[in-house]
Amino acid sequence: MTKENFEELFIQKLREYYALDISEAGDAELLNTLGRIITSYYNANVVETNKVYAGHHVKQAYYFSIEFLPGKMLKNNLLKLGLLDTVSSALAEMGIDIEKLANVEKDMALGNGGLGRLASCFMESLAAGSFPGHGNGIRYSYGLFKQRIVDGYQVEIPDDWLKNPNVWEVRKESRAENVRLGGNVYLVPLPNGNFKPVYENAQILRAVPYDTGMIGYHNNTVNNMRLWSVEIPASEEWRYDSLQEKRQFEDLTSVLYPDDSNEYGRLVRLAQEYFFVSAGLQSIINFQKKNHIPMEALHHQIAVHINDTHPAMAVAELMRILIDEEDLSWDTAWHVTTKVMSYTNHTIMQEALETWPIGMVQQVVPRIYQIIEEIDRRFVEEMTGKHPHYLIENTRIIAHERVRMANLAIIGSHSVNGVAKLHSELLKNVVLHDFYTLYPEKFNNKTNGIDVRRWLHLSNPALGEVLDQAIGSGWRDDIHQLRQLENFIEDDQVLNALAAAKLTNKKHLAQWIFEKQGIELNPEAIFDVHIKRFHGYKRQLLNLLHIMKLYLELKENPELEMHPRVFMFAGKAAPSYQFAKMNIKCINEAARLINNDPDVNQKLKVIFIEDYNVTKAQSIIPAADVSEQISLASKEASGTSNMKFMLNGALTMATLDGANVEIRDEVGDENIFIFGLTEKEVYEYYHNGTYNSRELYQNNQMIRRVVDTLIDGTIPNVQIEGGELYKTLVDYNDEYFVLRDFESYAAAQKRLDLDYGDQRLWQQMSLINIAHAGHFSADDTIKQYADDIWHIQAIDPKGSR
Ligand SMILES: *Cc1c(COP(=O)(O)O)cnc(C)c1O
Repeated sequence: MTKENFEELFIQKLREYYALDISEAGDAELLNTLGRIITSYYNANVVETNKVYAGHHVKQAYYFSIEFLPGKMLKNNLLKLGLLDTVSSALAEMGIDIEKLANVEKDMALGNGGLGRLASCFMESLAAGSFPGHGNGIRYSYGLFKQRIVDGYQVEIPDDWLKNPNVWEVRKESRAENVRLGGNVYLVPLPNGNFKPVYENAQILRAVPYDTGMIGYHNNTVNNMRLWSVEIPASEEWRYDSLQEKRQFEDLTSVLYPDDSNEYGRLVRLAQEYFFVSAGLQSIINFQKKNHIPMEALHHQIAVHINDTHPAMAVAELMRILIDEEDLSWDTAWHVTTKVMSYTNHTIMQEALETWPIGMVQQVVPRIYQIIEEIDRRFVEEMTGKHPHYLIENTRIIAHERVRMANLAIIGSHSVNGVAKLHSELLKNVVLHDFYTLYPEKFNNKTNGIDVRRWLHLSNPALGEVLDQAIGSGWRDDIHQLRQLENFIEDDQVLNALAAAKLTNKKHLAQWIFEKQGIELNPEAIFDVHIKRFHGYKRQLLNLLHIMKLYLELKENPELEMHPRVFMFAGKAAPSYQFAKMNIKCINEAARLINNDPDVNQKLKVIFIEDYNVTKAQSIIPAADVSEQISLASKEASGTSNMKFMLNGALTMATLDGANVEIRDEVGDENIFIFGLTEKEVYEYYHNGTYNSRELYQNNQMIRRVVDTLIDGTIPNVQIEGGELYKTLVDYNDEYFVLRDFESYAAAQKRLDLDYGDQRLWQQMSLINIAHAGHFSADDTIKQYADDIWHIQAIDPKGSR
């Protein structure tokens, strides 16, 4: 498409859709028109891509995830189609600023954090690699809550993201599926040994898919992210006595995290999990049946990926479809199912390994419960005699009156992977050790990765230009070419250009923060950034305590030698997670104290950016000098923001946790700031039970002074919150070893401050980080999933436009 074509088309379509000329149209109308032009441009490729997949009986992978976090799509889609420059300048000629339109688009925030963002990076990389791979999830009518900070506290506001129509999605009425929930089920024996289930009083819900094109980068592939929305079928309306009762079911897909502090919320969550799993599998199988694929051979045609435990019922649901509806024998169905399914574990935190009470599973999905029971029974039968009793009890699915979803996923899959080398080792040796004993061949590692197009091309054009100048634009198609940057390690011109690009981004961010918060930042200060969900193990509290150390030192000695530093935080706390919310409050109060104290505020500032999301990440990360990745070793499975920061030239302050270990291996010890306990040392403490945080507090004067700022009024307005945090640190033995790592962290921060003083050295370190960041491209991760787990092959893209 040329600029002229586009301009003509745009004017014509704006009239056609809205009966408006450009000068009369508002941003929302301009955005919708643009979106519809883009979708109709690639829709031909959707049809073509599907024809190739169907026509050649290509094996396809489906990524089942209860979260997706795509962020905004406008510029992303234009970039992938190779139209970003053409359309931006055409719009500019017509007096329209594409940035302004991009800002009108709402973030698609159907996820909480890293898990959902990974799913979206994988969607991009599947399409970029021309792999037949699609997403399957839920179209929540409200995204994750919007976070406002009021008087230092997090306040949660519903995210009504569909108020303006979402131009990227297509409702596919003809692909709707029925999903059955609740009621009773009886089994009538059949001659072939199977049973015919007879249902009584079940609710039939209609699952309607909304499809969003996942566009390949400069190829003609367009895959599909299919998100399901609930409706009540007309034939079932009579069942509902009141509008309220109907509403309960219609709300099944309204929110991402139903309040799970009560029984009803937990029921909704369980029903959501079954809803999208069942609808997704039915639609996949219908497609295969239309293509006359025999169900015995299903595993040659499809791979289904269980992203964390939420979609684990896929194992039982596929069994249900194969035995109840397709009349396969149990053994054949089981063979097919385990070959189709694969599972990724994302955390070793006990709280995140889902289990459901038996009674609840029976109530919500009675037939699925029966099948899980039978899988469990056969598992125990198969293992008895071969393995000791305790091992079987530890690994079976149903135990202690609960259904263990990870156990279901592992037993029902042929592959179980962790998301970074360290994490995968911990799975084998500790967390899932019993399973590893049973099935060593299932376990493997796939270190996470990121979509470099979003996290560099789109979000950091200033750096992109420097790279083009230095190494040519080949990196835009092959990210590994970033390695060539190492040839310029002694080149002052390149080093200065990198520094200048960073400064541009910092000024940009500082300007934005000034407009939002009225706080002036010195762009020459070190921008030290800690952005991620708030959680105890991520240790925002460690960062805060170190800030308070600097504060106390500056108060005592305003002439203290230190480079000015801006500490930035962003992140949401789960609504019912009081500890995390108290961290947010204390950080905001410390910020108010420090930013308004003329004794310190020339050297120290603290900023909390509210409502962290993908779009905010895209403007914060390119402006960061320092990336805070300070989780307690062993607790962060991988992390992906660590990779985004590295790609954008920030240096990492890190514990040896998750993918930080692999970043260290890539850049070398001299180009990263490592501190703190290792995972081995943490486990030794668990083993010996010798950690005593109160002793540390009592015997270490510096630690005591810093911790006391939480309770002695130094940080104002936190009588309750500061007191509670103090208790976790001193009275409850500091679950996440914050005090144990404090001195080591402070020392690493001191080294960092000194190194920043040597700007040439700093730029060289930054350059090495950028040069090695290609290692963490999700394109490579996806190739490994495709080859080792899903056994799918890339389609030859039929020439690029
Ligand atoms: C990358 C990303 C995350 C993951 O951050 P971690 O620091 O790896 O936990 C979470 N939220 C958003 C919006 C992201 O872009």
